[in-house]
Parts: sequence; C-alpha cells; structure tokens
Amino acid sequence: MRGKKILVTGGTGQVARPVAEALAADNEVWCLGRFGDPAAREALEEAGARTARWDMATDDLAGLPRDFTHVLHSAVHRGDGKDFQETARVNAVSTARLMTHCSAAEAFLYVSSGVVYDRADRNHRYRESDPLGGAAPWLPTYPIAKITAEGVARGLAETLALPTVIARLNIAYGPYGHGGVPMILFRQMRDGQACAVPREGQNYCNLLHTDDVVRQVPLLWDGAGVPARVVNWGGDEEVGMTDLLEYMSALTGVPVRLDRGDFSRETAIFDHTARRALIGDCSVDWKPGIARTLAELFEEYRERIGAYADAHPAGPSQ
Ligand code: NDP
Repeated sequence: MRGKKILVTGGTGQVARPVAEALAADNEVWCLGRFGDPAAREALEEAGARTARWDMATDDLAGLPRDFTHVLHSAVHRGDGKDFQETARVNAVSTARLMTHCSAAEAFLYVSSGVVYDRADRNHRYRESDPLGGAAPWLPTYPIAKITAEGVARGLAETLALPTVIARLNIAYGPYGHGGVPMILFRQMRDGQACAVPREGQNYCNLLHTDDVVRQVPLLWDGAGVPARVVNWGGDEEVGMTDLLEYMSALTGVPVRLDRGDFSRETAIFDHTARRALIGDCSVDWKPGIARTLAELFEEYRERIGAYADAHPAGPSQ
C-alpha cells in the first residue's frame, strides 16, 4: 500500500503499532492517542508517523484533517468492569466521531473482538452469524465496549455510505507492547504464579501473529463495504491454551504450574470461511511465532530458545 493518508487509533497498542510503523514507510500515517508511553510515541515518529493527542473519552477531532483515505480504529476503552454506561458511551461516541470526521474515506476498519460472541461452548467454531452477548467475568464491561462500537460502525457505515469492515480479532501476539495474552501468561509463569486452566480439557483459540496483522490490514480495507462487512480475524490454527503454556515452558525451561478449576479465562475458536474468502490464509505458524516472540521480548531466554529450535528442527507443527 502506498501514497495513502491513514488515520490510526490505538497506535501505541500491541495490535495497531506495528501496522502504523509498517505503513508509515510508504504512506502518510497519523496516530491519535494519549501517549502515556512516550517511548511508543517516539518509535512511531521515528518510523515516520505523525502523532496527535486525542483522548477518546473526551475529545472531538477539531483541527484534524478530514481527507484520510483509510482509518484503522483500534483504540479501546475496556472499562473498569463496573461502569457499563461510561464504557458504552466512550466507545460508541469515539467511533461515531471518527466515522463522521472521515466520512469521505475509502475504507474504515473497526477492530472488534471474539469477546462479542456468546461463547457457551468451547468446542464450537464461532461464525459471524452466531449469537452475540459475550460475557467476560475477568472484565465484564469489555464485551459491551465492543458490541456497542460495532453497532455504531454498522449504523454509520450505512448512513454515511462509508465502506466499513468490522474485524473480530481472536488473540493477537507479537513483540509489541505487552506482547499479547501468550506473553502475559509467560510473565505469570516466570513470576511463579499458577496459570488458570479448565478442570477438564483445555480452552482453544486462533493465535494471530502481528506480522499477519500488518499484512492483513490493507486486505481488510479492500474488503470494506456498505453495509459494513463483519469478519472473524484469527490465525488458521486451533491452539490449546494449555498446549501453549507447556510449549513456552519447553522453550524457556520456565516451569508451568496449572491451576485446574472453574475460572480460567475463556477463549473462542473461529470458523474461518468468511475471513479466508476475504483475505486468504495466515503466514505465521503458532509455534515458530511464539518462539520468535519470546526470544525478541525476553533476551535472557534467547539462547535457550535457539538451542531448543536447533534440537527440534521438524518444522512448524513440532
Ligand atoms: P492495547 O491495550 O495494547 O492498547 C490499547 C490502545 O487503546 C492504546 O493504543 C491506547 O492508546 C488506546 N486507548 C485506550 N484508551 C484510550 C483513550 N481514552 N483515548 C485514546 N486512546 C486510547 O490494545 P490492543 O492493541 O491489544 O488491542 C487493539 C484492539 O484490538 C482493541 O480494540 C481490542 O479490543 C482489540 N482486540 C485485541 C486483542 C488482542 O489479542 N490484543 C484480541 C481481540 C480484540 P494510549 O494509551 O496511547 O492513549
């Protein structure tokens, strides 16, 4: 993608930062945010992106150019778990402001989440048409944040005739920000904390490496439409969360302690039919992707991870 004028929210985050940095090489990229992490702001500017302060909870977009061709709306106010009104308001209003401001854009991408599904069955492959109403006991306001913003994106796509794609992300991971859920779990392991897993069986997800995120964002924009197109966005493989923990333990030598009980953080697996038709397959297999990410984020384990990879050269699924 070249020569476009791109607006990115959530550009300091794990998902959108690598996209903004990559696109800034050949496009005019603007990142909006509060920039609580000045290092992330500096990195974005070094990569060639412009940055502007914007708090999605309070600020309008006065003073910002209107001639953006593409918008990646990745910022989220997840809420504090209790204030549903404020969570719904912040995510709905900020999405409405962005879409109204950029109504002449070629494509608007709203990054949603698999958390919107009513994920009652951990073995079901969720399709875009499946029942919504996700619950997240670990942060009850989060599904409301995503469902309300999806509603605004659908509504304004049609009233403004703004081509829109709502991409329901599974679990993204990679060497940016906190690294994603797998790296958060690894830190827990490293700190000697037990990892909660189901009493029986395991939770499954579709891990998506940020290299694929970067490659697929322009493809998603190409798939934007009116009415808004809704698509699951996850990695091709179904990954057991317990398998993931054990693999990270094997790679690094850090022991994993499993806390089998009723309160593990639930995940979901996706049906990929619509995503494959729209943007094709993924390119990063989860095991090499996880090994690479651990080595990039945790220097102290780099040598050991390299030795493990040398001793297990059997390819991506080994
Ligand atoms: P992070 O938690 O890494 O980053 C959140 C981003 O939102 C930051 O860039 C932050 O910018 C911005 N933000 C938060 N509050 C505000 C605010 N009040 N005003 C302006 N910006 C704000 O998020 P991820 O990168 O992990 O997630 C990106 C998107 O993907 C989100 O919409 C999330 O719901 C979705 N998603 C992510 C998944 C994942 O695995 N990571 C899975 C499923 C969905 P700053 O602090 O600089 O203001």
